[in-house]
Amino acid sequence: MALIVQKYGGTSVGTPERIKAVAERVIRWKSKGNDVVVVVSAMSGETNRLIGLINAISPSGSAREKDVIVSTGEQVTIGLLSLALQEQGCDAKSYTGGQVKVLTDNSHSKARIESIDDSAIRDDLAAGKVIVVAGFQGVDEQGNITTLGRGGSDTTAVALAVALKADECQIYTDVDGVYTTDPRVVPNASHIPKLSLEEMLEMASQGSKVLQIRAVEFAHKYDMPIRVLSSFDKDENCKSTLVTREEDIMEKVIVRGVAFNRDEAQLTITGVPDEPGVAHKILGPISDANIEVDMIVQNVGSDNTTDFTFTVHRNEYDKAKEILCETGNKLGARECSGDNKMAKVSIVGVGMRSHAGVAATMFGALAKEGINIRMISTSEIKVAVVIDEKYLELAVRTLHDEFDLDKS
Ligand code: ADP
Ligand code: ASP
Ligand code: MG
Repeated sequence: MALIVQKYGGTSVGTPERIKAVAERVIRWKSKGNDVVVVVSAMSGETNRLIGLINAISPSGSAREKDVIVSTGEQVTIGLLSLALQEQGCDAKSYTGGQVKVLTDNSHSKARIESIDDSAIRDDLAAGKVIVVAGFQGVDEQGNITTLGRGGSDTTAVALAVALKADECQIYTDVDGVYTTDPRVVPNASHIPKLSLEEMLEMASQGSKVLQIRAVEFAHKYDMPIRVLSSFDKDENCKSTLVTREEDIMEKVIVRGVAFNRDEAQLTITGVPDEPGVAHKILGPISDANIEVDMIVQNVGSDNTTDFTFTVHRNEYDKAKEILCETGNKLGARECSGDNKMAKVSIVGVGMRSHAGVAATMFGALAKEGINIRMISTSEIKVAVVIDEKYLELAVRTLHDEFDLDKS
């Protein structure tokens, strides 16, 4: 008998009919003799609707209260799915994050899971129940409701799979696996049957939202394979992607996929003193404000001054710019400027480790299309560039063609 954790995303539970279809699938897995724990997201559109309500009342209001509101979508779906399962004769029980308990730190809206108490779930599984857990939510030490960031139900599922030592963590969504790029942007993207956790980690961190990055980090750290499947397919012989350890993968392609992120903003401060500690003086206040910085470039100094550029999420652009310009005044900077219509495109593949010239090929392909590169960052298995947002789709398609990914 196996223990399976399944996660169903928003579109998979988007209507009562879809919820009934999920219940049927869960019962099929259960009737094959498996123990099944199900994690669900809110119905599609619901989390956005809740954020809309918050913004209509208090966009800059208390983060604690915002989490009280945005976490409710998942409470509805655990109840509905449990009822659907019971209607079909299956003994099911719902759990909120707090009831489990999924303990997190207190960073509202981007909380990290610290531990999961699996004792109640184990008792209920032993009693033959199917367990339905609310994704995306937890509680901190004080019992405040927290949420794990957009797409966070993936992380709940992987963390539960790790805690319960599940045999498999299945992520059901609206695509039948991971593709060489987002199939909504490049319709001839190729399906990837198997890829490494490292590649998925890089793709997720570069913007492939098919899996939340924290979920992949968890899976990587605890060696938990993830299978991505479509909840719209029949179970038998359906396509899927297994995301697993690199050693389990024979084929090491140079470029596995193209990831992108359109939510970038770039900030620049020019003419700051070129001396020890200046990077800390510039980025310290940004990180104190809990703003995550992605790419960073410092120019070679001249005349004892230098220029400093970095990127942040577009939602944090205004706040970051205000802080940066304040720092600029203190440091006597020449100028503080920015652009919030930027995007990032990345190529990812473990085969890059042993191949030179991949970055040059990428830059050449973008140049042929007249796309200007604003920033570059590389890792062992990735090359990422920041470009103007208006060129994003063109850049993704160009790179997908350049590396023959439609044929992979
Ligand atoms: P869910 O609501 O089930 O969590 P998401 O919308 O979060 O679903 O993730 C699935 C979506 O991820 C797909 O519909 C697809 O548009 C997008 N996506 C982005 N990059 C990729 C990729 N490389 N492969 C497959 N899907 C991708
Ligand atoms: N409902 C949350 C969101 O829309 C969490 C999730 O779907 O994973 O981001
Ligand atoms: Mg998702």
